[in-house]
Amino acid sequence: MLDRFAALVRRFYSEPKGPIPLHAPVFAGKEKEYLCRCVDTTFVSSVGEYVTRFEDMLREFSGAAAAVAVVNGTCGLTAALGLVGVRPGEVVLTQALTFVATANAVRHAGAEPVFLDSDPDTLGMSPDALRAFLDAKAESGPDGPRLRADGRRIAACLPMHVLGHACRIREIAALCQEWRIPLVEDAAEALGSTLDGRHLGLFGRIGVLSFNGNKTVTTGGGGMLLTNDPELGARAKRLTATAKRPHPWEFFHDETAWNYRMPNVNAALGCAQMERIEDILADKRDVAAAYREFFANEADMEFVDQPEGCRSNFWLCSVRAGSRAARDAMLEWTNAHGIATRPLWRLMTDLPMYAGNAGDDLDAAREAVERVVSLPSGPRWGKRP
Ligand SMILES: *Cc1c(COP(=O)(O)O)cnc(C)c1O
Repeated sequence: MLDRFAALVRRFYSEPKGPIPLHAPVFAGKEKEYLCRCVDTTFVSSVGEYVTRFEDMLREFSGAAAAVAVVNGTCGLTAALGLVGVRPGEVVLTQALTFVATANAVRHAGAEPVFLDSDPDTLGMSPDALRAFLDAKAESGPDGPRLRADGRRIAACLPMHVLGHACRIREIAALCQEWRIPLVEDAAEALGSTLDGRHLGLFGRIGVLSFNGNKTVTTGGGGMLLTNDPELGARAKRLTATAKRPHPWEFFHDETAWNYRMPNVNAALGCAQMERIEDILADKRDVAAAYREFFANEADMEFVDQPEGCRSNFWLCSVRAGSRAARDAMLEWTNAHGIATRPLWRLMTDLPMYAGNAGDDLDAAREAVERVVSLPSGPRWGKRP
């Protein structure tokens, strides 16, 4: 099986012998032209035409009321949590199966993450686990729910859309509404993914995208806040850009704010990439279709497909092995043969700084970590065979 799998990947990426990365960007548009323009005009930093243009492109593409470009996804999450009212000493409910940035952002906002289990099908936060946690451990207060045990306020809920697939966000949003918990979506992996036609990140107060080098679209480093609330969007723009009152020469800042602005050079890359977003997504979905077909005939490996109603970007195409041993065999063989494959992240509660923060048993998340392998999934656009 592994031999045939390797042949498929090599044929697909037109790479007969060399290494095949997990997800490398393809710069087949106007990236160089736009970058040169930044240098030629000297607008390389926090002022420049590309930042606004990139925000406009994302707003239109996602259908959000506002899009605010920031330096990276992690800072974007930190800012989003602050913007919805998370304060030091409070608690944020999130999931154990995620990239470490989700948890770090909660701590950067001064709060403590509580890690809940995943839904076995979508791998994202389980609404059942969320409901069970709230019923057992929370009580309503005047400013939202608090933990019964110590009275700390539950200041936000932060689910993550794993691998670009939608989590059960509608059920999570309904629970958040019922309990009056602000919902922030870690949609870092989900650019171009929708659920029932709505872009992920737009089911709560704020959603956060990442444009790191391994994501679907890259700006080198970067992120984007998306929101349906234009006022919140305007506040996000102010607070991620030093809260300076507009004035031709005065420096008057009226709040303690972040400097999380995306530089113009990064936005330039993003504009060129976004001009090709439909090609990139189409290509990644072709990759997914090839894997789906291949693994349909393999007994020990199941393709991790998009959930019902979700049109996924297939950020990282993945398979679920029948056993941990089968997973390990696949990781070892493919990486030894130049084909980059990766396990999911270690559960946050298995990392030393978050070991004490489990909110429930995390059985489904642990099972997924032991079984799932991500496969080469980058776009081939511009180098089709
Ligand atoms: C990539 C990623 C982030 C943020 O990434 P940055 O590298 O800071 O842009 C956050 N959460 C998840 C789940 C991610 O995959």
